[in-house]
Amino acid sequence: MKKAPPKRILITGAAGFLGSHLSDRFIQEGYQVIGMDNLITGSLRNIEHLFKLPNFEFYQHDVSKFVHIPGHLDYILHFASPASPVDYLRIPIQTLKVGSLGTHNLLGLAKSKKARILVASTSEVYGDPLVSPQAETYWGNVNPVGPRGVYDEAKRFQEAMTMAYHNFHGVETRIVRIFNTFGPRMRLNDGRALPTFIAQALRAEDLTVFGDGQQTRSFCYVDDLVEGIFRLLHSDYAEPVNIGNPDEITITDIAQEIIQLTESPSKLVYSALPVDDPKQRRPDIALAQKLLGWDPKVHRTDGLRKTIDHYQTMDKTVLQETTQIYFKRDA
Ligand code: NAD
Ligand code: UDP
Repeated sequence: MKKAPPKRILITGAAGFLGSHLSDRFIQEGYQVIGMDNLITGSLRNIEHLFKLPNFEFYQHDVSKFVHIPGHLDYILHFASPASPVDYLRIPIQTLKVGSLGTHNLLGLAKSKKARILVASTSEVYGDPLVSPQAETYWGNVNPVGPRGVYDEAKRFQEAMTMAYHNFHGVETRIVRIFNTFGPRMRLNDGRALPTFIAQALRAEDLTVFGDGQQTRSFCYVDDLVEGIFRLLHSDYAEPVNIGNPDEITITDIAQEIIQLTESPSKLVYSALPVDDPKQRRPDIALAQKLLGWDPKVHRTDGLRKTIDHYQTMDKTVLQETTQIYFKRDA
């Protein structure tokens, strides 16, 4: 009997933190993976190990422009978008475009290829939430014209456009609302709390906590997130689903935990809270548990250990390079 050909999946944002881990997972599962990225916040370093594989291809392309892929496609994962507040403040127009025009292009591609598409949404659609934990039924508290509006509103538009393609064109769509995720390959200078704190602790610099540090986040290890996304893609549910770890912690506490785990002499220094910074964030994951039989498995401390190990053992010139970029941006 003839063996069925491998499924073909397009992953946008493949050279980024999450896109590279998703590429690894789908390669391991035997898929033909087509990575696409314009490298605006990602790096080929994250996927260089895949280039030698016969079931990996890569296109350097901006998905806010027309996307062409030769041949058939079974699935699309749309993960291209700046994701860190520092990044989307630096490149606000590109952020709005990739969430809107980019999403439109990929939905159009999914429609023409009869492919199933999963789009990466975010807990930021809940804004600075007035309820906790946040369930999918909560509509959010977003300031459209604040500094975070470029990201939050692009993602809210993305969700609306995705549902419209599902309802009007019958495209098979999935929406994942991702809560703060961490792990190896986060860009050390992307400004997000965990890579920033880990880099500062490893360099024995003080950790920069914003506000009084009593704001909360709930951090999910990347392997758990990838498992949740894999299951959601293969489910038959088109409405948004939260994926994240409900283990909530204050920013001060996680900064202290990183100092402890790295055995660093660093201390905490406090400065002003950025505008519209959400005060609390914790996912309600009852839907994912019921629908996907999914639960996060990796305890935050174990995830932090693996992440810190990754940065401690990485090529020292790379660490130096990222450090220099970090200082340039801060100057
Ligand atoms: P990242 O910055 O590491 O990766 C994003 C990738 O998208 C980068 O490689 C970047 O170069 C690429 N990209 C951006 N604009 C593009 C464009 N116009 N065309 C092609 N490529 C483009 O960020 P990440 O943390 O891996 O986030 C990936 C996705 O997950 C994003 O859509 C983000 O909104 C979403 N998300 C992430 C988190 C998290 O905690 N990491 C939380 C919520 C949502
Ligand atoms: N934060 C901080 N110091 C930093 C970077 C971030 O105290 O150097 C805070 C930030 O103000 C927010 C939390 O850590 O309250 C998480 O920030 P991050 O940028 O990781 O993501 P967010 O969840 O805000 O999108």
